Amino acid sequence: MPVRNDLSALEGYHSPQVDVRVRLNTNEAPVAPPAAFRQAYAEAVAKIEWHRYPDRGATDLRAAIAELHGVDPAMVFVANGSNEVLQTILLTFSGFGRTVATFEPTYQMHGQIARSTGATVVEGERGADFSLDIAEVRRVITEFRPHVTFLCSPNNPTGGVDSPELVREVLGLNAGLVVVDEAYGQFADWSALELVSEETPLVVTRTFSKTWSMAAARLGYLIGPKWLVAELDKVVLPYHLDTAKQIAGTLAVQYRGDMEERVRMIVAERERVVATLKTLDIEVFPSGANFVLFRTKSKTGRAVWQGLLDRSVLIRDCSGWPRLENCLRVTIGTPEEDDAFLVALTEVLK
Ligand SMILES: *Cc1c(COP(=O)(O)O)cnc(C)c1O
Repeated sequence: MPVRNDLSALEGYHSPQVDVRVRLNTNEAPVAPPAAFRQAYAEAVAKIEWHRYPDRGATDLRAAIAELHGVDPAMVFVANGSNEVLQTILLTFSGFGRTVATFEPTYQMHGQIARSTGATVVEGERGADFSLDIAEVRRVITEFRPHVTFLCSPNNPTGGVDSPELVREVLGLNAGLVVVDEAYGQFADWSALELVSEETPLVVTRTFSKTWSMAAARLGYLIGPKWLVAELDKVVLPYHLDTAKQIAGTLAVQYRGDMEERVRMIVAERERVVATLKTLDIEVFPSGANFVLFRTKSKTGRAVWQGLLDRSVLIRDCSGWPRLENCLRVTIGTPEEDDAFLVALTEVLK
């Protein structure tokens, strides 16, 4: 049975899950959420009425997220991971006959989900240091008039943060709906959330997978104009967000202080790791996230990745991706994990 012609070239998402001592390949948080959260969750789950559908509007969860950001609950859309948020945006605003702009290299799933909805993806280019040049953004937007334009700040897998000036300029162009993917937003020193309003074609997406230590839950959301959230609510499947997950999210945000403490720790740890990486024979790219991208010099990226794996340290091999020759990405872990990585890397590079 042939798949849709336009899907036959899709490669899908690949990230090997192998059994290793030190796993620093998927940008997860290095530690679990607080024990008090897990206790509260277990108690709440025991009271679920399993024979009933979940609250379709995820009322409590939306209210909790809205309070977190000081916005109206009608400006919050929640889904199963920010990937489902992105998919719902693209089902609603892209699709056949429409165009989606990305600036490469960036998060693979933006282009991949857009293509799965039938849209044409146009790829702008980042500079040699992977920063985004407004002239290039202007060129792509003027030439292709995209229906949806993706920014990713901090950008995965390169780590850089787009400036407020750049995001404001993009909003001033005819860029269609501007999506700023802030999966790592809390690690950066500013957020595009401050630019969201009813009059602006902008949404900011966030996830519980990284900063909230809840990758297992698959929970993400966006903040955007109310009219836009209402459109997404029409497209997403009814009851897509199960009761257990709604409870998990609603409880999680009560532990915001713990999350912010973890973020501070990870940022400090990132600075420590970067300082050591800079002493090695590699090129290190600036990061505002919980991971660092670097490019090997005298050995190939693939060989270094394999050398680390031989020492039971798994990081992300980006070296085969377009524009990322010899690039590897390491997630910041606990100090012990990071030390194990740094020792192994130093050995491999010898
Ligand atoms: C991890 C990541 C996501 C996916 O988040 P989920 O909520 O786990 O689906 C989205 N965008 C970027 C840039 C990411 O790195």
